[in-house]
Amino acid sequence: MNQIAKKTYFTPGPSELYFTVPDHLQHAMKTGIASMSHRGKLFQAIFEHATSQIRTLLNVPETHHIVFLSSANEAWERILQNLTTTQTFHFINGSFSKKFYEFAKDLGRDAHKLKVPMGKGFPDISEVDIPESVELITIAHNETSAGVSIPVSYFEEIKRRYPDTLLAVDAVSSVPVPQFDFSVIDTLYFSVQKGMGLPAGLGVWIFNDKCIEVHNKLRQAGAITGTYHSLNALLDNATSYETPETPNVLGIYLLGKVCEDMNRKGIETIRRETSFKANILYNFLDEQQAISAFIEDKRYRSQTVIVIDINNGDTAQDLISVLSANGIEVGKGYGSFKDRQIRIANFPTHSTELCFKIVDVLSAYLANR
Ligand SMILES: *Cc1c(COP(=O)(O)O)cnc(C)c1O
Repeated sequence: MNQIAKKTYFTPGPSELYFTVPDHLQHAMKTGIASMSHRGKLFQAIFEHATSQIRTLLNVPETHHIVFLSSANEAWERILQNLTTTQTFHFINGSFSKKFYEFAKDLGRDAHKLKVPMGKGFPDISEVDIPESVELITIAHNETSAGVSIPVSYFEEIKRRYPDTLLAVDAVSSVPVPQFDFSVIDTLYFSVQKGMGLPAGLGVWIFNDKCIEVHNKLRQAGAITGTYHSLNALLDNATSYETPETPNVLGIYLLGKVCEDMNRKGIETIRRETSFKANILYNFLDEQQAISAFIEDKRYRSQTVIVIDINNGDTAQDLISVLSANGIEVGKGYGSFKDRQIRIANFPTHSTELCFKIVDVLSAYLANR
């Protein structure tokens, strides 16, 4: 283990840690944060700090509540168990959005779907038919498997057409970058090992008062049950800055500190840098023949996960190896795309210098082979 040379992880998740994490981790070790009781004032302060920094960073209004889960996979299950009993509807354009749909079926819901080919956007909402009886609509803002991103205005269109149906947004690989309008999103969730640049093992679940109402109604009708991570247990505990179980205290602490660092830097600066770096990569790809951006339609190109098609000659492993030899780890294509695509993350911790380096290394490789 000791001999592993430090690489920079441009993998889409887990990814490179935010550059301030080592310092915060050291502080946590020195002060015993991972050993303290989760039923005490110190933990309450850590919980309050983390949630208020998340609230500021993502501009979450007071109508929405913030609690902690273990992962985004858990968020799928909790959303289904706590907010639905019968019918759900899922927008699917890649592997993660498909998994939410599969969870719904596994839990016995009558799950409807609109499935477009991997990496495509969705049709105009006027062409999407969602039955009245559906309780929940789900959509991924950024499909990490394909590098496709849905304009946030689409959520507003869904909400305008289906105001009474709960809308759940997966923001795992796009936070903290997008400017979400929470007035049209009932629930949103993410895990922290992608754009937030933290060790895996923590999920954040944001939900509004309407979710609480729906949950309480289903609970009173005896239609749902639930234990430690039922919505009401999470919410009750969050009221006093606590969690039902012994939580990932270290993860919550680090998340709060990283959000504070990002807030200090300013979300506008983070957005500007993200778009600048994405342009470096996409502009380069648009000039190439041997490789190209998988997402052709610029409206749907993800700013945070850039997926590259390999058109002739090389395999994904060739490109992954040449970048790795230069200290940069990128991801392979997802699932059946693993041999002919690579995926490059563009998260807040990734520097402009290294984005230029990726371009240089790939150019040199493609020119000399
Ligand atoms: C990674 C990812 C998930 C799953 O996250 P976990 O933390 O592994 O549960 C869900 N949705 C999207 C879009 C992802 O990128």
